[in-house]
Amino acid sequence: MKRNAILYFFSVFLLFACAKERNENRKSPKNIILLIADGTGLSQISAAFYYKDAPVHYQRFQNIGLIKTSSSRQKITDSGAGATAFASGVKTYNGAIGVADDSISVRNLVEIASQKNLKTGVIATSSMTHATPACFYAHATHRNQAEEIATQLPASQLDFFAGGGLQFFNQRSDGKNYINELIQYDFTIDTLALGTYESIQNNKKQGYLLAQDGMKKTTEGRGDFLPKATNLALQFLDREKTGFFMMVEGSQIDWAGHNNDTKYLISELIDFDETIGKVLDFAEKDGETLVIVTSDHETGGFTLASKKTKGNQGMSYNNYNEIEPSFSTNGHSAALIPVFAYGPGSEAFTGVYENTEIFHKILEVSEWK
Ligand code: MG
Ligand code: ZN
Repeated sequence: MKRNAILYFFSVFLLFACAKERNENRKSPKNIILLIADGTGLSQISAAFYYKDAPVHYQRFQNIGLIKTSSSRQKITDSGAGATAFASGVKTYNGAIGVADDSISVRNLVEIASQKNLKTGVIATSSMTHATPACFYAHATHRNQAEEIATQLPASQLDFFAGGGLQFFNQRSDGKNYINELIQYDFTIDTLALGTYESIQNNKKQGYLLAQDGMKKTTEGRGDFLPKATNLALQFLDREKTGFFMMVEGSQIDWAGHNNDTKYLISELIDFDETIGKVLDFAEKDGETLVIVTSDHETGGFTLASKKTKGNQGMSYNNYNEIEPSFSTNGHSAALIPVFAYGPGSEAFTGVYENTEIFHKILEVSEWK
C-alpha cells in the first residue's frame, strides 16, 4: 500500500515536471524576423559555399525544411503569389498582392503583429512597391499597380521601412505627393542615405526611399545597404522591447537569375548572407527572437555543373575540379525551396510543406492568433 502511494506521488511529480519542461521548450518568440531571398534555390545557396571568402551564415541554422511553392493557378509561382503565401497564408494567383484567389484582401503578418502592439518593419533592395515588400503592407489585384500600392504605405501599420521606389511617391501620374502623406502619418522620411541609430532613435516612425526605382546592384555600388538597414531596423524596432516583426528581402538575387548573370547573382547572394549574419548575431544575443530564412521560388534554373574542358585528344570532358555556373531559363522554376529557422519555435519549420504554412507556423509559435 505504502509503496503504491509513493509510486503514485512520483508519477504525479513526473507528469508535472514533464509538462513544465514542455512549456519551457515551447516558449514563444518575442521577435520574429523573416528573411526572403527572392529567386534563391539550393544551387544559389550552394554557390555561397564555393564563392564566398568568409564563413557562410546559412550554415549557422540547425532546423531546416522544404516548401512547395506552386501558386493557386500555376505550377510555377511569381513573387506576388509567393509573398502573399508567406504574408497571409493563402494560395493565390500569380501577380496578386495581398489578395486571395478571389481578389479579396487578406490580412498580413504586419497587420496581425501590429494589432498585438508589436513594432513592424519591411526592408527590400527593390522598390518598396515591388511584389515581395508590397505583400507585407498593401493589397492590390495586380503587382503592376505600383502607384496604387504606394498610396497604401502611409496608413499601413509599418514603423520602419527601407528600400527604393521614390518615383511612385513623388512623381506620380495623378500629380499627388505621397511623401507629404507619409509625414502626416508620423514618418520621418530620408531620401538620401541611411542614418545612424542615434540620428533616428527619437523619431516615431522611420522610412527610407533611397532610389527612384530599385536600389543599385551590389555590382554597381550599392555597398552594405541591406545589412546596414537591417541592423538599423533591429535597433529601432527593439528600442521599447515590446517585440517586433520584420521582413527583409534580398530582392535582386531574382533579378540576377532573370538576367542569367552569375557575377551579379553571387554578389547579391553574399550580400544577403551577410544580412543573415547580422540578424543571427542579434538573435543569439537576444534569445527571444525567431529567425526564418527562405525564398519564394528559384529563378534561372541555376546550377553548379562542372566545366567542359578539352582533353589531350581534343575530346571535351566534364572537369570535376572546376565549377561553371549556368542557367536553364530566364524565368522562375518549380524546385522545392529550403527553409532555415533559428531560435524559439524554430523546430516547427522542419519537414516538407506548402509555402502558406510559413504564415500558419509563425502564427502558431508566436501565439499571435
Ligand atoms: Mg521580390
Ligand atoms: Zn522573378
